[in-house]
Amino acid sequence: MKTIHDFPRAALGITPTPLHKLENLSRRYGKNLYIKRDDMTGVGLGGNKVRKLEYLLADAQAKGADVVFTTGGAQSNHAMLTAACCNKLGMRAVLLLKKRGVTETKGNLILDHLLGAEVHFIDTDSYDQVYAEMRRMGDELQAEGHTPYYIPVGGSTALGALGYVAAMEETYAQSKEMGVRFDHTVCVCGSGGTTAGTAVGTKLYSPGTKVLGIAVDDDPFEEIVPRLMEETLGLLESPLTVEKGDVDILFHVGAGYGLAGVEDTAAVKEMAQSEGIFLDPVYTGKAFALFLELLRKGYFDGEENILFLHSGGAGGLFAVELPE
Ligand SMILES: *Cc1c(COP(=O)(O)O)cnc(C)c1O
Repeated sequence: MKTIHDFPRAALGITPTPLHKLENLSRRYGKNLYIKRDDMTGVGLGGNKVRKLEYLLADAQAKGADVVFTTGGAQSNHAMLTAACCNKLGMRAVLLLKKRGVTETKGNLILDHLLGAEVHFIDTDSYDQVYAEMRRMGDELQAEGHTPYYIPVGGSTALGALGYVAAMEETYAQSKEMGVRFDHTVCVCGSGGTTAGTAVGTKLYSPGTKVLGIAVDDDPFEEIVPRLMEETLGLLESPLTVEKGDVDILFHVGAGYGLAGVEDTAAVKEMAQSEGIFLDPVYTGKAFALFLELLRKGYFDGEENILFLHSGGAGGLFAVELPE
């Protein structure tokens, strides 16, 4: 069995990120609610992708890559953070973004521009088509003597998920220091890597703590997440296997991926107005909306200490509309 420390890691983030109690919301909902501030990972505007990129880009470096390809929606936080992290490591980022959502120069697209990333819009809904184009462009660069490295959407491979295994080691060490044991850890599920890594890390470092992933897109995450968990445990050469109670997935997609509803605006405002913390309209705001509804409906009855993972996404606030 390996430990998380056996894997090469590019030192990109500024960690540990803060972990603290949400005092006003805890009082309102009658629970001890905590937040892990991975919106403050220290690169770009912060966010969960920095932790995944620490393992993915270390692999790229080991393979001698000088150009990194990745993809996502037009407002992808992952693509923006890939560009930011590549800049730190002296690699070039090529972003193949789906021509969907907000494609005007707003939000993350402004940041992509400032970061000097090469952005190409691909007019398709199929990631297979995007990956085929990525390969074609990469092959061309290779013929010119470059070494390309490919990161799939969201960086949600087993290697990327290791970032959240490491994040959970950090988180549960912090909670131990605080004398708190979490009954439940709640995170956002967008492409699955964060939830898979969080569930594996929780199994390793805080067995018995439940994990809930709140999906903001309608892919079959009940299958995707356990499969990624198995692959991640495989990388770690762990004797553990994925069990039924390791992770629950609930969906809050609303009108569609990237489309916030009025209840999401209310959740973003509740966090901002109670705690002075900004959530985002695509991921954390939506997950928090369902999280608050679950608190009201008694989903966490019998539990005292609950952790919400803030995975970042601030750029989306300046691109995506929050309906009133
Ligand atoms: C990408 C992203 C997520 C989802 O993480 P996955 O690992 O793709 O499931 C959550 N929150 C924010 C802000 C993100 O950018």
